[in-house]
Amino acid sequence: MTHKKFLSIDQGTTSSRAIIFSSKGEMLATSQKELRLYYPQNGWVEQDAEEIWQDTLACIRDVLKKHPDCVSFGITNQRETTILWDKRTGEPLYNAIVWQDRRTAEYCSELKAAGHENKVTEKTGLLLDPYFSATKIKWILDNVEGSKTLAEQGHLAFGTVDCFLIWRLTGGKRHVTDATNACRTMLYNIQNNVWDDELLELFEIPKNILPEVLDNVAEFGTTAEGLLPQVYPVHGVAGDQQAALIGQACFGKGMVKSTYGTGCFALMNIGEKFKTSQNKLLTSIGYRLNGKTTYVLEGSIFVAGAAIQFLRDNMGFFSSANESEALAKAVDDTNGVYFIPAFTGLGAPYWNPNARGAILGLTRDTTKAHITRSALEAQAYQTKDLMEAFEKDTGVKPNIIRVDGGLVANHFMVQFLSDILNTPVDIPTCRETTALGAAYLAALGSGEFKTLDDIAKNWNVSEHYNPEMTEQNRDHYYAGWKSAIDKLSA
Ligand code: ADP
Repeated sequence: MTHKKFLSIDQGTTSSRAIIFSSKGEMLATSQKELRLYYPQNGWVEQDAEEIWQDTLACIRDVLKKHPDCVSFGITNQRETTILWDKRTGEPLYNAIVWQDRRTAEYCSELKAAGHENKVTEKTGLLLDPYFSATKIKWILDNVEGSKTLAEQGHLAFGTVDCFLIWRLTGGKRHVTDATNACRTMLYNIQNNVWDDELLELFEIPKNILPEVLDNVAEFGTTAEGLLPQVYPVHGVAGDQQAALIGQACFGKGMVKSTYGTGCFALMNIGEKFKTSQNKLLTSIGYRLNGKTTYVLEGSIFVAGAAIQFLRDNMGFFSSANESEALAKAVDDTNGVYFIPAFTGLGAPYWNPNARGAILGLTRDTTKAHITRSALEAQAYQTKDLMEAFEKDTGVKPNIIRVDGGLVANHFMVQFLSDILNTPVDIPTCRETTALGAAYLAALGSGEFKTLDDIAKNWNVSEHYNPEMTEQNRDHYYAGWKSAIDKLSA
């Protein structure tokens, strides 16, 4: 039997990619281009929207050369990153302001001080933070000359990266996004599934610049005539973390996926009932299919694999990230060393933007092996913090977690994770779960898949880890981490 092919566009923070998958979830072709980041001022992070488009297009063309017979496209993307463009020309007004950008921190603090955070959380599931799109949009409107006039004249469009790519792919015919991207703008009411007028007023953003919000599986448009060898429909869109949730087939209430790339993002499926967190987690739309919303709780940790990059590039401890495993295993433990990689502040569940990274517990005989081990162990402790918050919010302790991302190539890290969580951990056969999730949405949209069960049936485990640590050790190590965090926050 021949399997149908789907093209997944995976537009991430550090690279743009196109991957062709079969409906069995096999990768048939892949093309990737590294993407530049610009830091025009301290705390500012930008990308060239034109480069995002050109790179993505080049990758799509590249993989279609080998497999032009794709049924449809799926898109997954870095979330929150904000682009405003002139609808008449498709020209961006300003660089893409990347999710990591902190330029609106002061404005967010002012809004918080004025007592607006509860309202924002009740409606959007988010915290009032520069991370999300709303204040980035406002910044462009306030700082780019002529943008407000363009909006008044109905010529201005806002979009997250998915939306901008669809605009370009369809030759300016479609201004649409999906519910999982919309829910990260801080303008979308995720209880009612509408752009929220009160929030638009609060952030002073005109409604006519916003895209139409569709389900994750929908008719997002077709590629413009002449752009690619054929015309292809776009049938599926989801933000990167939600796409990974789908690729990991976490469709049951209480199921958790955790992705360890540059940062770490853990999502727990909480079912069809909206709920805000009492423990500083975010609530988001996990997916919306046939008009039915499934919610997730999300914990975001800003630095995961980036801590390993730091030891490699800044400290020169090793030349390749995978050497960190042998180094960590060369010692029996960290000898009391804890590495808190809070380079840009602490994310969930602490949300302390002023915290900075620290290595604690150094003694005269500490070696780079101890420090490397502590950086890997930190991934487990950070995840444990999130899992405790999930459990407090929902009363559910997951009986297994599904992990992915570059860091899970490190067996030491994954075993330690399972040990500290006291929970089995599974790695699936296809580790490109984000791109795979988008391909699966396209398969659903084209009718190749009928239900989510078709995705779940394709999910297979490649590595399974069971906890092996004694309770006494687990408690001892984690108590040390908590005490290190307390010292950092003091
Ligand atoms: P992203 O999608 O965020 O760019 P990836 O999922 O590709 O990230 O993961 C890359 C990260 O994983 C890097 O930060 C790298 O340092 C880390 N990494 C990759 N392989 C290993 C390894 N064997 N041990 C530890 N860290 C690793």
